[in-house]
Amino acid sequence: CARGACLVRCRRRLYDLSGFVRLHPGGEQLLRRRAGTDVSAALEGPPHRHSANARRWLEQYYVGEMEPGEEQVPPARGIAGCSRGHGCAEPAGCPGAPLCRVHRDLVDWQKPLLWQVGYLGEKYDEWVHQPVDRPIRLFHSDILESLSKTAWYVVFMVWAPVVLYLSWVSYTSLAQGNTRLFSSFTAEYSIPVHKYYFPFIFLLGMFLWSLLEYLIHRFVFHMKPPASNYYLITLHFLLHGQHHKSPFDSSRLVFPPVPASLVIGFFYGVLRLLLPEVLGLSVFVGGLCGYVIYDMMHYYLHYGSPKKGTYLYGLKAYHIKHHFEHQKSGSFGISTRFWDHPFQTLIPEETFKKED
Ligand SMILES: [Zn+2]
Ligand SMILES: [Zn+2]
Ligand SMILES: [Zn+2]
Repeated sequence: CARGACLVRCRRRLYDLSGFVRLHPGGEQLLRRRAGTDVSAALEGPPHRHSANARRWLEQYYVGEMEPGEEQVPPARGIAGCSRGHGCAEPAGCPGAPLCRVHRDLVDWQKPLLWQVGYLGEKYDEWVHQPVDRPIRLFHSDILESLSKTAWYVVFMVWAPVVLYLSWVSYTSLAQGNTRLFSSFTAEYSIPVHKYYFPFIFLLGMFLWSLLEYLIHRFVFHMKPPASNYYLITLHFLLHGQHHKSPFDSSRLVFPPVPASLVIGFFYGVLRLLLPEVLGLSVFVGGLCGYVIYDMMHYYLHYGSPKKGTYLYGLKAYHIKHHFEHQKSGSFGISTRFWDHPFQTLIPEETFKKED
């Protein structure tokens, strides 16, 4: 279908995917080609067998049943066929009865979520890993709420100048030629660090970041909070749970600069303690650059529509698998799959078994 409306059906049930089609992990083009058709077979695959979460996700776009005998879906039918008489409290965005299961959720979506999730206890883990397509409100306070949101370009605008400035500082101080490695242990055998080493030290920093990205995502963000601990559940939700509950909330995809600067400051301190002054700074600035690339890429993997067959297309499918199927078991690498290999959390490409 055209740019705009995109309706599909699954047997007799109609879905309006106009708002979702760009985000489809299997590619926008693939889904658009199926507009107006029955997707029930395509959901089974090949190329991809859709997860239970993906099917639950589809139900959010339900707009109504098809009338008997009506074979073809009109390309822009709109939501005329929708049955709204289900007495749901939510005024808008609630076209069909199945969506009401979403409304009768374990939490009250009309109220801020942050102080509710802790009460979910044992149910929290399952709840948080069932993604929904709706924005999250965390706080009562409008000020706190706006501080908890960040547009993707803010991360770039805040940190890119820092990367450029610190790169210049590192390079010019290396150029003075008095930086030596191991000079605190031995004066004779210390190694001079030439200014032309800077790009390599910078790349080393980026490489170390990719490891850190993996470790933080797997062991901090995906640490399972004890069901009885209200505060740890709340903290988990604040750090990463919210992103799994609402993976396409565009204002909550990147890390807000204020809390980020605390974490970044901590790692800066660690590097300064471990390495001679300029070297520590050079590794740090490479790592910071890696972080900025990671955050931009993570945003793109959720919101971009990469062409089939490209590197980013594969990476997007890989990351969406982390969100919909393997939330706890794998695909922890976001800007690269590299570290999933040694840590054995790589989710292999789908080898499709035909059902008999
Ligand atoms: Zn409803
Ligand atoms: Zn994500
Ligand atoms: Zn995650």
